[in-house]
Amino acid sequence: MQNQHTGHGDHFPNCLHAEIEQRQNRKWLIPGTIACNKVLAIVNNPRLCKDIAMMSEKHQTSRLEAFHSLLNQFAPKTYHFLYRPQKCRTLLAVLHYNENGGRSQASTVDGASRYALTFPKFKKGGAVVRPVMVAASYEYVDKLLDLVVTRCNEGVIQPSQVDIPSFLCSSFERPDKAEAIAAHRTRFLK
Ligand SMILES: [Zn+2]
Repeated sequence: MQNQHTGHGDHFPNCLHAEIEQRQNRKWLIPGTIACNKVLAIVNNPRLCKDIAMMSEKHQTSRLEAFHSLLNQFAPKTYHFLYRPQKCRTLLAVLHYNENGGRSQASTVDGASRYALTFPKFKKGGAVVRPVMVAASYEYVDKLLDLVVTRCNEGVIQPSQVDIPSFLCSSFERPDKAEAIAAHRTRFLK
């Protein structure tokens, strides 16, 4: 920002960018000016510096968000599933994600990368360019079907036993109902 690209300190001695063409008439911040001091106050903010140290180099949450969105298609939150169906749907979402999580960008017949225009809500009518990925594959479905057929041929038709945990509230201590009602009433009389 100040046209200084070397001697930044031990952790990060030099800039990693390529040679900057000076003829672009680029404007630099001049040390000691109000504008420069304001920027320095922002980038040297102790809270920001502490946050940056905590950031992960590789592990961003976008993949996790993508998985949650996929899981919501296999097991929509608006429906209530019992334990076993919920577990099966979660496992299917995992299989689908593992097979399709790292899809590459699709290309046109000419070999150019494909993009699509989308209009996200937060842009309020503005368009955003998104890369188009290659179509999802469902090879895990064939593998599952093969496995089911094999199991049936072997005479194993019972689904494997799933340890279904008891309801969460079953571990709570249950108070005497009459006493609880009495306590509830006295609270309201006050
Ligand atoms: Zn630089």
